[in-house]
Amino acid sequence: MKTTLPAAEALGLILDAVAALPAETCATVDAFERVLAEPVISHRTLPPFDVSAMDGYAVRSADLAHATGARSVSLPVAFEMAAGAQPDRVLEPGAAARIFTGAPIPPGADAVVRQEDVVRDGDAVRFAASVPSGENVRPAGEDVRAGDAVLDAGARLGPAALGMLASLGRSHVAVRQRPRVAILSGGDELIEPDGDPTGGRIVSSNSYSIAAQCREVGAEPIYLGIARDTPGDLERMLRAGLSAHVLVSSAGVSVGDRDYVRPVLEKLGCELVFWGVSIKPGFPLVFGRFGERGPFVFGLPGNPVSAMVTFEEFVRPALKKLAGHAALFRPRVEAVLGEPLRKPAGRMHLVRVRLAWRDGDIVATPTGNQSSGVLRSMALAQGLLVFPADATALAKGASVSVQVLDEEFLAAPDAGL
Ligand code: AMP
Ligand code: MG
Repeated sequence: MKTTLPAAEALGLILDAVAALPAETCATVDAFERVLAEPVISHRTLPPFDVSAMDGYAVRSADLAHATGARSVSLPVAFEMAAGAQPDRVLEPGAAARIFTGAPIPPGADAVVRQEDVVRDGDAVRFAASVPSGENVRPAGEDVRAGDAVLDAGARLGPAALGMLASLGRSHVAVRQRPRVAILSGGDELIEPDGDPTGGRIVSSNSYSIAAQCREVGAEPIYLGIARDTPGDLERMLRAGLSAHVLVSSAGVSVGDRDYVRPVLEKLGCELVFWGVSIKPGFPLVFGRFGERGPFVFGLPGNPVSAMVTFEEFVRPALKKLAGHAALFRPRVEAVLGEPLRKPAGRMHLVRVRLAWRDGDIVATPTGNQSSGVLRSMALAQGLLVFPADATALAKGASVSVQVLDEEFLAAPDAGL
């Protein structure tokens, strides 16, 4: 087992170990935010034939070549084309067809004149201008042609993609399985939120934040509960999580007498890949695996911010890779530091920051007490500032790199219409 790794090396080991989960079939109606497991190739041409983009009259543009306000052209209305009609009637020269938006253009016609631009006169219609060929016609295949690659594997299925799949007649779609993540907390001091908080007990808040972090990437959290600080209880609970794709425990991974997570994992046959990453918060992170296909195990530190930050940096990209996402990481922005920062050389720090727009720049300011037990400064954080391992000081105004947690922040406040 490796120990005390630089953050990038630890992340590399994790991402080398995990691969996208197998595909499964999902009803398109239920596929919102799922990840496509294969490229979508269209078997259809859309629209399948030329259709009218307007309510009006289908014409042969040559018939109106000389129409002007002074010398208008009158054509008999030969028939009507409604949306859903078959394009089986030919528009003969010297005639027009009444047509509605979405109706097929009858063979022979090559343009549509808007009804606002004509004068209807009994069974005839009068045109006071010429019309270019193709005007107000949506050509067959304007949207998609049979054989086109429409969506790539790894795409996250958003509203437009689902509409696209439906329009291609795909009622079902191949998506990646969602990672199932078993979550447990360990500690004799821990209670559920409705428990009695006297006598040194604290609420196991980590299960709440970790479950939500799973949901944020489309993974399915399975809460196992609180294990007591005994090897037996921890083993019983870890075993219960082995049917999941990923097991995430928090606490009990340090060097205390009752930190049983590592020995119990080893007893269960887990190969421990590394322990300890040179970051703050979050040093005592454990990563292990049961064989090639998992389950994969993350033993997160117990402190609430350490647990959340190590999840962000290491578990989240792993879940995204398992889920088949093409993009694994948060957006990163360059920001201007709002107040000076210092630290000893050695570990990378991830500093909780608020973000604000100022004259087109993003200003990042620490959210307050950065102790790994202070969850409040995490709750206020819109980003994590990367304070590199070797650096010891960052001046106010320095250019810094920030991982953006609050992705909506990136839409500037005045970015609407
Ligand atoms: P440990 O890793 O067991 O030494 O725990 C480190 C710190 O995190 C201790 O102060 C614990 O009380 C706290 N802690 C451990 N587990 C949780 C949890 N599930 N929720 C909130 N705090 C926790
Ligand atoms: Mg403990």
